[in-house]
Amino acid sequence: MNHDDLRDWSKRAADWAHGYHAGLRDRPVRAALVPGAIAAQLPPTPPEQPEPMETIFADFERIIPDGMTHWQHPRFFAYFPANASPASMLAEQLANAIAAQGMLWQTSPAATEVEQVMVRWLAQGLGLPETFTGTIHDSATTATLSAVLTLREAALGWAGLQAGLSGQPRLRIYASAETHSSVDKAVRIAGIGQENLVKVPTDGRLSMKPGALAGAIAADRAAGFLPAGVVLCAGGTSVGAFDRIADCIAVARANDLPVHVDAAWAGSAMICPEFRALWLGIEGADSIVFNPHKWLGAQFDCAVQFLADPAPQIRTLGLRPTYLETAGREEITNFNEWTVPLGRRFRALKLWFTLRAYGMDGLRGRIRNHVAWALDARDALAAINGVEIVTEPSLSLFTFALETDAATEALLARINDDGRIYLTQTRHQGRYVIRVQVGQFDCTRDDVMMIPQVVAELM
Ligand SMILES: *Cc1c(COP(=O)(O)O)cnc(C)c1O
Repeated sequence: MNHDDLRDWSKRAADWAHGYHAGLRDRPVRAALVPGAIAAQLPPTPPEQPEPMETIFADFERIIPDGMTHWQHPRFFAYFPANASPASMLAEQLANAIAAQGMLWQTSPAATEVEQVMVRWLAQGLGLPETFTGTIHDSATTATLSAVLTLREAALGWAGLQAGLSGQPRLRIYASAETHSSVDKAVRIAGIGQENLVKVPTDGRLSMKPGALAGAIAADRAAGFLPAGVVLCAGGTSVGAFDRIADCIAVARANDLPVHVDAAWAGSAMICPEFRALWLGIEGADSIVFNPHKWLGAQFDCAVQFLADPAPQIRTLGLRPTYLETAGREEITNFNEWTVPLGRRFRALKLWFTLRAYGMDGLRGRIRNHVAWALDARDALAAINGVEIVTEPSLSLFTFALETDAATEALLARINDDGRIYLTQTRHQGRYVIRVQVGQFDCTRDDVMMIPQVVAELM
């Protein structure tokens, strides 16, 4: 295969993609397969001789689509969305065609500069102060790891990077039980340890209790531990919990602790001013992550981290061996120093295309529809005999259950075997509940109202 073939096959792929997307509503959302079914269709050894693209493409069409769960299906209401707007897909094709590495400014000046401008556009779009800068990571997990590593090193006066952690005081990080498991993962792999992630109790609204946070920090100091920072939750993955950001940041400030806010899902909604009360006080955060690859339409992978001051993170993650030096350009931004991996894809391009092709107003309209339709679906579900709404909508996420866990679990299995919609579960205060999130880029109200229809049929 050469570049002339690539041009022809790219056209074929574009036609295939168009048909695939047009036909999504006729497919079951979740792959209906037994484990091993796909692997069994592939030969056990790689080919010695080149194969014609006709054969490869025919096998792709025969094996792969039916082996996928369709994340762009308009009736995907599971987990959180992983939206890919058509404009984002086009930008990814172009980024793939150029296939550059954006580790240093000089390795791809446009990649660095478009990234800087997109971070600025998004800070404005979310109503953050212009003083925030930031960078794009692959995922919120990596952004939170970067933030936690920075909390660790700032607390240790940057001693850990050189000397390691043995002999250092025991560090403590504070978060609520509603934060995502990526926070647990970050403290584990940052060498802080799960036991030193203090899960501060929450109140009836599922916000971390600011008083309990202050108490935990004081108790830890008295015990000889070294508090390093606070991770707050703005839109938890389980049921959409929000910490009271302003009150918790005030406690952190009073204790001289930096704050990282995980808004991976809900951050996208903050392009709508009416939702910003949910993260009131956010301008006091040191670091904020949100995933345009969830709800905004710039497809995976695209996690934006805003930083009030990038210097501590660059001091933590940046390294300049001779082969990465950029003579005479030491002041330029080299984004690899802001993130864990050295190599970086040109992720800002899909943000540029998406924000322009739909406009902030078009994106706000989608998110407002999702929130409104989630309420409609909630009301219709609540009207079904035997269905109980367990957590009320947080933006476009709510949960419901039947009388017993066993009945709820059995209903969920019937829903997902049926295939018209896809929902997933969580456990809330010990109870097994079904999550509903509305957020597919091009879903319609009819798609959303299929949720109560299917539930009523399968009860
Ligand atoms: C999805 C999610 C994450 C993890 O996101 P990745 O980008 O997949 O790492 C973290 N926090 C919250 C609140 C999330 O919803």
